[in-house]
Amino acid sequence: MTLNTDIAISQATPLDPIEKIAAKVGLTPDQIEPYGHTKAKINLPLTGQHQLGKLVLVTSINPTPAGEGKSTVAIGLGDALNLIGHKTVLALREPSLGPVMGLKGGATGGGHAQVVPMEDINLHFTGDMHALTEAHDTLAALIDNHIQQGNELHLDPRQIVWKRVLDINDRALRQTVIGLGGRTSGVPRQDGFDITVASELMAVLCLSEDLTDLKRRVNRILIGYNTDKEPVTVGDLKVGGAITLLLKDAIKPNLVQTLEHNPAIIHGGPFANIAHGCNSVLATQTALKLGDYAVTEAGFGADLGGEKFMDIKTPVLGKTPDAVVIVATVRALKYNGGVKRADLETENLAALKQGSANLLRHIHSMQQYGVPVVVAINRFTSDTDAEIQTLTDIVKAQNVAVATTTEWADGGAGTTDLAEAVVKAANQESHFTPLVEPGTDLLTQVKTITQKIYGGAKVELSSKAQRQLKTFAKRGWDHLPVCMAKTQYSLTDDAHQLGAPTDFTIHVREFSPRLGAGFVVALTGNVLTMPGLPKHPAALDMDIAADGTITGLF
Ligand code: ADP
Repeated sequence: MTLNTDIAISQATPLDPIEKIAAKVGLTPDQIEPYGHTKAKINLPLTGQHQLGKLVLVTSINPTPAGEGKSTVAIGLGDALNLIGHKTVLALREPSLGPVMGLKGGATGGGHAQVVPMEDINLHFTGDMHALTEAHDTLAALIDNHIQQGNELHLDPRQIVWKRVLDINDRALRQTVIGLGGRTSGVPRQDGFDITVASELMAVLCLSEDLTDLKRRVNRILIGYNTDKEPVTVGDLKVGGAITLLLKDAIKPNLVQTLEHNPAIIHGGPFANIAHGCNSVLATQTALKLGDYAVTEAGFGADLGGEKFMDIKTPVLGKTPDAVVIVATVRALKYNGGVKRADLETENLAALKQGSANLLRHIHSMQQYGVPVVVAINRFTSDTDAEIQTLTDIVKAQNVAVATTTEWADGGAGTTDLAEAVVKAANQESHFTPLVEPGTDLLTQVKTITQKIYGGAKVELSSKAQRQLKTFAKRGWDHLPVCMAKTQYSLTDDAHQLGAPTDFTIHVREFSPRLGAGFVVALTGNVLTMPGLPKHPAALDMDIAADGTITGLF
């Protein structure tokens, strides 16, 4: 059999029992709850004293729609660090079925750098995504039931902000009307669905320190407003206990392995364009306690996941990164330099040089946080030596460390140059500096991110967003951290503006308070919280044979 697909490589690799993987990082059988033979939940808190390892954040340039191998490089880097003798634990995000069945694919890496069993992780895994969907929709049902049963809290059906969720791209559910069918079928109102990874419960799960903190945050969640326009929370509805109960197992991080039998913790999966884009704080803390190095990633480019890791996750994590890896590909930089997707496999040094402006913007934006930056050039087979050399020279001219990786073809062995560069960077002195001081007002935060991270000039608020800022100020919500919702394809809020545009305006159409997560989402441009499926969804190519052999799962 030729090993030419991710699923074929994954299914052909014999996996170690999960107890053996756990033992590698000192986890005893009673500290894990196996889900089958190759997956386990980790029981927290970990007992005993643990020194925290070095924290490495993997982020990237603005991607093409296919993704540029951030997860793949992160997995290769984890394997390579283990290969050169540093006990390393990965902390990655759980895939959403939306992109798995849709366009982008899974989130388990690719080629010879994968977390496995990839078919389980990409599909239902240990059920966290389903638990979140059920918990979210239970809350929605309890809200509508409250209105039906007398509405003691005087909830205004026109001002319910808690929508419903589903973990699949279903554009037909973006706007719905519910409660039709007469007196016994509820109170009619306009509603809609988001994708599960955009649920505030996902953000809450990813930012919680333990069950107590989870319940505290769940109770704080804003569900809507009453007829006096005053906010109403889950705590007011008195169902925080039930919602937390539904998440009792989902809050425990999941342990799996890489193809090279190194430990990987996969937990929580908010998207970085419409949510904060980082795996759970508990998973990253556990990886830091168990490894000398913890390698984690944040979704999409450094403008989205990278910024949010620094400004939203780091303060809760209680540990600042020791090194940042920015993944770049020749293909994506050529794409940013104006080359059409169909022509990306043809050498084009001029477009590469032009598109590299995008990488330089991301390097400079990450350097502002005072953490050493390393660039990883994720090599594709179509990249020419001249292209790799040109890109290497461009990065070196910035005095930034750079390494070419071939983890997709060679696993950890193809990523050791990057691992050496990361070890060197992570052991340099670093002085983490937040972009804005905690407590800075929302508008100043959006302006600072626009100018210092995106390279833009101005921020324009819709009249709704302007009105919201005034009421948020009265309620004390205007000093919460901002979580930008923006297209991943561009530094601007327009997906078609590639490269490194300057002098542009970011348009905020609406703010959405996420009081449980502890931030306010700023929705920019026309970013959507329920994606749609493409013309040729990945689902069309998938199949399973009678003997269980899977095809089409990338
Ligand atoms: P990201 O994390 O940036 O979204 P992924 O790591 O999920 O990207 O990779 C996206 C896709 O690209 C995956 O299908 C993966 O197998 C593929 N890929 C990644 N790196 C390479 C490479 N060097 N050569 C060929 N395919 C690759």
